[in-house]
Amino acid sequence: MIDKDQFSKIKFSKSVFDIKQLPIDIGHEVAFSGRSNSGKSSMLNTLNKNSKIAKTSKTPGRTQSINVFDLSQYQDKRIMDLPGYGFAKVSKKTQKEWGALMAQYFNTRRSLRGIISIMDIRNPFKTSDLQMIEWANHEDVPIKIVLNKSDKLSNNKKANAINSAKKFLFESNLNGEIQTFSSKDFDGLDSLQLTILAWLEI
Ligand code: GDP
Repeated sequence: MIDKDQFSKIKFSKSVFDIKQLPIDIGHEVAFSGRSNSGKSSMLNTLNKNSKIAKTSKTPGRTQSINVFDLSQYQDKRIMDLPGYGFAKVSKKTQKEWGALMAQYFNTRRSLRGIISIMDIRNPFKTSDLQMIEWANHEDVPIKIVLNKSDKLSNNKKANAINSAKKFLFESNLNGEIQTFSSKDFDGLDSLQLTILAWLEI
């Protein structure tokens, strides 16, 4: 049984633009990673019973910071909303800063227990998604691939998308659990919650 209440106390803590501003590196955290427009903010809001903890934005790449959310009834259990990647509208300099912040985060963060990698079910496994999976596999960090906006597909097409994704991972010699999700009809919500609670050791 999932205690959904765990997710009703997710509180925005701060936005971090520099690695030095991150919360002290103790406890457990789960990182949410995804291209702009993959539905990451909507997913965070859905997890938190749809109260608007994360801004949903139609402007790709507007958020360039790591947004830190605390599960406020616990000490040192966090969700880290990583800046969306794959955006075209920012300068080379900004892209470089983004890359540096991400590399520092992934290379140093001991509290990181798992990565939720969010992709549009109709267009998964873009280059940046693959880099994320490769890094996680290389570093032995668990990764869950979430094929998001599953409400956009019929059940048949959804099943096909899952099978293709599994086949693709296998053929690319990559590892990762796969699930579908929708913020519209809550497909996959239980599974996502269970994964996060397990990684946070709650
Ligand atoms: P982010 O840039 O990754 O944070 O994405 P947002 O959460 O802002 O969502 C981007 C767009 O996709 C918005 O227009 C959302 O309404 C839409 N969207 C997000 N999640 C879903 C979903 O599960 N189903 C559908 N159909 N649309 C979604």
